Amino acid sequence: MRKVVIVGIDALEYEYVVKHNLKPLMLSKYGVVSIPPELYHDGVPYTPLVWTAYLTGRNPRDLGIHHIYEEPRWVVLLKKAIRITPLRLIRGKKKLLKRLGINVFKPYMIRGTTIFDVVKDSLPINVPGVNLSSEFYMIPEMIDKGLFDEAVKIAYSVADGVFAQTIRAVKAGHYRLIFSYNNLLDIVGHLYWVKRPKLVLNAYMHTCRRVSRLLVSCRRRGYDVIILSDHGMTDSGDGVTGTHTKYGYWASTIHDFSLSSPYELIKKVVGIVEKEDNPPVGVLQEGT
Ligand SMILES: [Zn+2]
Repeated sequence: MRKVVIVGIDALEYEYVVKHNLKPLMLSKYGVVSIPPELYHDGVPYTPLVWTAYLTGRNPRDLGIHHIYEEPRWVVLLKKAIRITPLRLIRGKKKLLKRLGINVFKPYMIRGTTIFDVVKDSLPINVPGVNLSSEFYMIPEMIDKGLFDEAVKIAYSVADGVFAQTIRAVKAGHYRLIFSYNNLLDIVGHLYWVKRPKLVLNAYMHTCRRVSRLLVSCRRRGYDVIILSDHGMTDSGDGVTGTHTKYGYWASTIHDFSLSSPYELIKKVVGIVEKEDNPPVGVLQEGT
């Protein structure tokens, strides 16, 4: 039985990995995964749609997923009706409803079969649409308030917690699939890609160190590793921030692995975990 750890790293950029020769993120082989246009929003790959395609092998729109938040029908209609209203009024409304205890904007959840239903003994760690942590949801709240440093701090903390939890799960040894996710590079990239390249590099180096540490545990416990991203990051053109590129990233310790579309992942992973290892020679001899 083969076992796999998937490290979901939102916005991990292929060109950046190559340019800075970030070996821990390259594993044995690596490449780009093209993101099909039905997973776009505003002309670029959209995080909740791409991760849902990875996790289900299906078009997220067919599963009723269009946005990062699920909105009741009346909110959708209300927003359409007041499209000309300045955004801050809508934000004010959201806050007011929140204060009244009406949770209008709740995070989307995937309803339908995911990779975790298909692979027995699988563990999602902070996975979008499945079990994102409550700490994770403080990141957009901080950005909303303009508290960028605080948002980045929480993104680091979430990423560190996710890596620590992943290593613990690897050490437990009995999971066939462990799938973790963090968005540190997405947050830092969106905020600072152009204006503060040092902060971006720090976040990449931090990710490299965490992945390196994880790889040691995976090697010891016989886990293969796949690194995935939903899109990369590039200059947005405003002189400060980053925006999504139209391709994602994959890397793997499995020499015959490759990925050309997010929809392929679920089948490929099932193929890997269901493939029996060649029995070690010693075992064969014992039986004869
Ligand atoms: Zn993303």
